[in-house]
Amino acid sequence: MRLILLGPPGAGKGTQAQRLVEKHGIPQLSTGDMLRAAVHAGSEVGLRAKAVMDAGELVSDEIVNAIVAERIDQADCQHGFILDGYPRTLRQADAVERMLQERNMKLDAVIELVVDDKALVGRIIKRADDAKAAGLPVRKDDNPAVFEERLREYYKKTAPLTGYYYAKGCLQSVDGMAAVDEVTGQIESLIGNNRNN
Ligand code: AMP
Repeated sequence: MRLILLGPPGAGKGTQAQRLVEKHGIPQLSTGDMLRAAVHAGSEVGLRAKAVMDAGELVSDEIVNAIVAERIDQADCQHGFILDGYPRTLRQADAVERMLQERNMKLDAVIELVVDDKALVGRIIKRADDAKAAGLPVRKDDNPAVFEERLREYYKKTAPLTGYYYAKGCLQSVDGMAAVDEVTGQIESLIGNNRNN
């Protein structure tokens, strides 16, 4: 199964992706996690991405497309994967399509988590507080000022993807404001329906 999760920052894509990983045994490909790992490792990609990420802006299409193309060729992706936080621009969406075509792979679903913007800042503050309470590092971009920029980037560059996938007839939506278990249930039922098609 190959799935794209769409939605603004703080919509719950990561949480839902982890649940899908557990249930379906396919990996979560989070470009945010991959970029943070590159920053942590001090690699060339990490050095180029760090300031952009800290400012809440988007890393270049060229960098993220290359990271994803390399990742989906790894053995654990051969039976499917969940794209979390990628694609985030129309150019990335075109790149995904090309990558899949070249590998004779098909997308099974694009699922959008629909959320209320006003609730998102609160979620981000909670995510930072929870990380702090658990003794985990707090993401530098999980603060209200940077979050505003992340949201602006989302509306400018990522929100058009819902139209892109809608036009292709593969966009499905769930209520991202519902309780976490309910959102999971909605996603599972969409995936189940897709399989029956
Ligand atoms: P995330 O963990 O998905 O919220 O991503 C954190 C940050 O990583 C974003 O604010 C961007 O700076 C960068 N990033 C993650 N995924 C992408 C992507 N697909 N395209 C461009 N930048 C990305």
